[in-house]
Amino acid sequence: MNTINTRLTFLAAACAMALTACGDKASSAPDATPAPTATEVAPGTAPASIETPADAPVEAAVPPANDKPAAVVKDCATEIQGTDAMQYNVGSITVPASCTDFKITLVHAGTMPVAAMGHDVVISKAADMKAIATAGISAGLDNDYVKPGDPNVIAHTKMIGGGETTSVSFPVSKIQGDGPYEFFCSFPGHDTVMRGSISVE
Ligand code: ZN
Repeated sequence: MNTINTRLTFLAAACAMALTACGDKASSAPDATPAPTATEVAPGTAPASIETPADAPVEAAVPPANDKPAAVVKDCATEIQGTDAMQYNVGSITVPASCTDFKITLVHAGTMPVAAMGHDVVISKAADMKAIATAGISAGLDNDYVKPGDPNVIAHTKMIGGGETTSVSFPVSKIQGDGPYEFFCSFPGHDTVMRGSISVE
């Protein structure tokens, strides 16, 4: 009983807090599950009626970057890692606007073979990512899981297995158009977690 009462009290307090927050700034609080009264603010639907339409859509459009650190960039290049746990070690890459070309080196820090845990780095518009990944599955490992000549692919490394290293360079101007742009692994199924943002600043 005590627990239930406490929870109810908490719920009420949380609702009150959520309402207050909505009142003055609508600080997006996606964690505030208990707020059925707040007219179902479904994440992603971004209702235009809320007071801060400027804030909400932005937060919805930019996928919450994973909790990984930004890549260390030096001399218009960076080195990132892929692991046997199907992860990159970084969540974002910021390319200096002063660079003409940019080089990404991928180190597979694991030991698993390419056929089981292959990794690559593909650069594309975020909007093109899914189509590239899907076409890549059909292209198969022989093509590094990237459809040959795919016009949506800005750049990509080859697909490597544990202990291997690969790299790719591309003109920075190619990621200065209508973004956002992402880097991801095109091994089947990996793009859902092995992905991050790449932008020029
Ligand atoms: Zn991968």
